[in-house]
Amino acid sequence: MSRNGRLEASLDRGVVRRVDGLGRVVIPKELRDLFNIKEDTPVTLAVVEDGLYLKVVQDTCIFCSSKENLFIEFKEKKVCRDCYNQLWGSEK
Ligand SMILES: [Zn+2]
Repeated sequence: MSRNGRLEASLDRGVVRRVDGLGRVVIPKELRDLFNIKEDTPVTLAVVEDGLYLKVVQDTCIFCSSKENLFIEFKEKKVCRDCYNQLWGSEK
């Protein structure tokens, strides 16, 4: 089953979840597994036409997709040290 198909299937079950006193809501394990969401996985929320949209924030360089040596962040996009040095010149 495709990711979208699985998502629709899980939403169609219509299980209502309640927000707790601190504003938290549990993401169902099935969806956490589907989107590889683990403890401390960064996520962001956005308002969309009919609700809220939760997106996993990718901790990868915007240019080369490296997960190593992430150096700076601008508007939620990360840049690794190698790409930073190629953009702005090495600090050597
Ligand atoms: Zn990079």
